[in-house]
Amino acid sequence: MVAGARLTIDLEALAANYRLIRDRAAPAAVGGVVKANGYGLGAAEVARTLIGEGCCHLFVALQSEAEVLVPELPADIPVYILNGLLPGGERACAALGAIPVLNSLDQIERWSAEAATRGGQLPAVLQVDSGMSRMGLPADEIEQLLARPELLGSIDLRFVISHLACADEPGDAANGAQEARFRAIAAHFPGVPLALDNSGGIFHARDHFDLVRAGIALYGGAPHGEAPNPMRATVALEARIAQLRTIPAGTGVGYGLTFQTTRETRIATIPVGYADGWPRCLGNRGAAYIAGIRVPVAGRVSMDSITLDVTDVPDEHLYPGAPVELLGPHQSIDQVAADAGTISYEILTQLSRRYERVYLPAAASVRIRSIAP
Ligand SMILES: *Cc1c(COP(=O)(O)O)cnc(C)c1O
Repeated sequence: MVAGARLTIDLEALAANYRLIRDRAAPAAVGGVVKANGYGLGAAEVARTLIGEGCCHLFVALQSEAEVLVPELPADIPVYILNGLLPGGERACAALGAIPVLNSLDQIERWSAEAATRGGQLPAVLQVDSGMSRMGLPADEIEQLLARPELLGSIDLRFVISHLACADEPGDAANGAQEARFRAIAAHFPGVPLALDNSGGIFHARDHFDLVRAGIALYGGAPHGEAPNPMRATVALEARIAQLRTIPAGTGVGYGLTFQTTRETRIATIPVGYADGWPRCLGNRGAAYIAGIRVPVAGRVSMDSITLDVTDVPDEHLYPGAPVELLGPHQSIDQVAADAGTISYEILTQLSRRYERVYLPAAASVRIRSIAP
């Protein structure tokens, strides 16, 4: 390996997470959210794995993401664009066959106009704001739409959806309020399938409408803060020691010399830094693991390297090229996120393009490959 670290992506763990969510959400169908390059894991690899498990709805955030993903997939798998239809994107979106989530009256009007120029109907998802004030039609636009139902005349409405602001806190009263508001709005669209839940919502004890949109839980992140995490880790990140040194007590380490040794100290430098998405705020805070032993970060995280205090690690595990666990059995994405004061989503989506990437295949895709000629 000549990269600074190897990122191993376990597609069978992803598949297992999909199956757990499927059983949990049933009878609702499970849509896979593969925005931001599949939360950093690789949108096409993730999408193919989910399709192998029977998933037939995929969500991206941007039309530019759909443009990359759609040609990689079977033609009958719909790809929905959560962030909606930006002005000027209508023709390309229709040509691509991607399905926009219409988030405003303006977007509905532009998609209808595109359908009219094509002389038919175009598919879409309608998002309503049930209380998060981010995406989706706000209350006044919902009223206008209900007063002018002909606005949807040339639109083949596949789902009405909304999104929860506090899904990761199941006890928050905002969840029930949003659900009630969503049900009230949805009653105006009889027969149209509904979708409300992201990963957090899937683990709320109630029914899950017709479709859920699973993101972080598929990738192994804890769907809730409190509960033990039922999901399997999908990524492991292993760096190698680039250099070792032994320095006396009273020596500074790294930029700003913010770490000062208080004893004779062994320092291992690994070739991973904030340019690889390892948060710079983990200077003097986070840790890595060598042979299962916790080795704290000593000094600031540099752009391309981190210095670790490995004084307590037996010599046999310390040599140039020795493996260092950044993510794996001893350190989860949620742990790193907690140390960095962020959420697992950010740790995953920042994973470096510089890492060597190794994909462990899902059992279903191995079966498919083995019957091919
Ligand atoms: C990102 C996103 C999701 C997936 O959320 P997770 O918490 O990762 O499961 C679902 N719905 C919408 C609208 C989103 O933006």
